[in-house]
Amino acid sequence: MHRALIAPVSTPMGSLLPPAGIFLAKKSKGTYAMVATVIDGKAFAATVRGKVAVHVARLKADHGITPGLAVVLVGEDPASQVYVRSKGKMTLEVGMKSVEHKLDIETPEADLLALIDQLNNDPEIHGILVQLPLPKHLNEDLVINSISPAKDVDGFHISNVGLLGTGQKSMVPCTPLGCLMMLRDHHGSISGMNAVVIGRSNIVGKPMAQLLLNDSCTVTIAHSRTKDLQEVVRRADIVIAAVGRPEMVPGDWIKEGATVIDVGINRIEKSEGGTRLVGDVDYESCAAVAGAITPVPGGVGPMTIACLLANTVTACSRANGLVEPEGLTA
Ligand code: NAD
Repeated sequence: MHRALIAPVSTPMGSLLPPAGIFLAKKSKGTYAMVATVIDGKAFAATVRGKVAVHVARLKADHGITPGLAVVLVGEDPASQVYVRSKGKMTLEVGMKSVEHKLDIETPEADLLALIDQLNNDPEIHGILVQLPLPKHLNEDLVINSISPAKDVDGFHISNVGLLGTGQKSMVPCTPLGCLMMLRDHHGSISGMNAVVIGRSNIVGKPMAQLLLNDSCTVTIAHSRTKDLQEVVRRADIVIAAVGRPEMVPGDWIKEGATVIDVGINRIEKSEGGTRLVGDVDYESCAAVAGAITPVPGGVGPMTIACLLANTVTACSRANGLVEPEGLTA
């Protein structure tokens, strides 16, 4: 039995959720026949980074401009440190300038705001990312909204949220942008398809729903209080799972031939010891029904950083009144 000791890492979210035992009632590995096409996010992300690198090289050669990304990390959260390191490495790999600001966990809010102001006014910096979550004493909304919207490569500034919501040109949050790129690549057009987004967070669920709507899908946003979630999901041609609950969506919720994009990243314990990463959908049973599916790891995850780089080169092009890279924006 492969999944006997599954323990969700994410915080339990209250009594509306299915009991923890639901994670144990799964069939053993190898029971399901794989029919879905696997959408290889790792390979696709490499292609996106390649396009970014080509555009960066053009900006340098034709205009003498090097796009610059500044990442600000407050405190020493180990997961955030890993993310920041890998963002810095990949930024350099595509030929951009990478700047990291590591601040003490007790940094006063005024000092952080002063740093953001300095980066807002730095002509060599085109993208600013403040790694979340921030320590409790810092007001996340205030900090995010102090970033210049044109340099807000995470797309979390209220101006960018409003622009996206009204279908105008904006900076788009990286994870949903990556999901959209994979959907467009796989389907060509997604116009008219029924899409269900499970999760309504500001960083994934809501902007994802908005992007799908802007691409003319019929969109349902499901969340922790949605009634009969399985019936809602069963109607979907496209399922985006962004919940943070390991393997919550089983294959029998999925319509035959549907495309399943799994945003979740959850670390679970294996019965034989050690841990592994799983998504928010039960990969094996969903892959036996779906037409296409993203794996975890190797699906949405790699696309997120690729889209951060794409957003930075887009921001740089816009700041200089130059043509935007093709296929790297919503
Ligand atoms: P969040 O905790 O902010 O939001 C989770 C959402 O799920 C909430 O809106 C909640 O209403 C909904 N939800 C919770 N329990 C539910 C249930 N039983 N049924 C239906 N809906 C339920 O999480 P988030 O930041 O949006 O992240 C979601 C997942 O995506 C996490 O696993 C996170 O690690 C992952 N993530 C991955 C990437 C990536 O790059 N691949 C980026 C961001 C987040």
